[in-house]
This record gives sequence, structure tokens and C-alpha cells, in this order.
Amino acid sequence: MVSSEEKKYIDKVIKLLLRPEASKIALAILEKNDATEEWLTKRTDMKLSVVRKILYDMYELGLVDFRRERDEKTSWYIYHINFKFENFNKVVIDRLRYILERKLKLRLKYELSHSFYECPKHKKLFTESEALQLNYICPYEDCGEVMLQRSNQHIIDKLTKYIGIIEKILDLTEEKKNK
Ligand SMILES: [Zn+2]
Repeated sequence: MVSSEEKKYIDKVIKLLLRPEASKIALAILEKNDATEEWLTKRTDMKLSVVRKILYDMYELGLVDFRRERDEKTSWYIYHINFKFENFNKVVIDRLRYILERKLKLRLKYELSHSFYECPKHKKLFTESEALQLNYICPYEDCGEVMLQRSNQHIIDKLTKYIGIIEKILDLTEEKKNK
């Protein structure tokens, strides 16, 4: 059995990791082992297509398992879904560490150490070394416009925000482990 404290923790992490509706599904699965898609749709009051999409995302992460059974009347397959609670922390931590180290931090480093230039007419982006080689003149046809430095601050802000969110989740999982 999953305690109410554990449910709160799962709720919080899934909301941050996937999307808010996903946590409704996760909690519903925890309520009833071997839940079917139909039951989940009723229980959460969500469309079947949305439920399926979320289940697929959770499956990709390794958070749920499916057991397939053929309905004797309709001969369609019915899927029974189980939450892999024992995998939860490992799946979450592995995935987050990967995203944090391999994607977000590298990208941030790249954005912080490069400047970009843009032709005001063609909106085409050039890296600093490309721009330098072209004497900061747009090479397209007879364009000849002088490139302008483009701010990547909005990308840096976004990356910084995501890094903060992920570090927060990792802190939560660390706290959990140390209890
Ligand atoms: Zn141009």
C-alpha cells in the first residue's frame, strides 16, 4: 500500500515532471491496481485520448506497466495498467539527471559562451565565427544588410528556469531518500 504521504510526493513530482493532469492519472492507478483505460477515463473525468497520451508518456518513462487481455465478447484487447512504484525514484532521478547534465547544462553553457548574429531582413541566424567570416554582412543574394547581434537572453532565462525546477525535484527525491 502507498501511504498518503507517498501519494503527495508522487503528485508533486509528476506535476513538475509531466503535466498536472498526469498526476490525476497516477493517483487513480495507485488507487486501483490493474485499472483499465475505461476505468481511468471515468475516474478522472478525462477524455480517453488524453488518458492514453498520458499513459504512453508514463510508460515511456518506465512509470507504468501494461497487462494485455483479450475481451472474449468483443475480441478487443483490454489493457490493465499498474504503477511501478518501486521504480519511481530511480526512473525520476535517472531521467532528471540525464536531462540536467546532458541537455540543459550543456546548452546553457553553449548559449552563455556564444553570441549570435541575425540578418534583420532574412531573420537568418549566424554564430559569431560565421558572422566574422562574412564581415557581418548577410550573404544572401544581394542582401548586403549588416547583421545585428541577437540577444539569446530569453533562451538563457528559460534554461535557467528549467534547471531550477529540476534541481528542486532532485532535492525533493534526496530528502525522501534520507528519511
Ligand atoms: Zn539578409
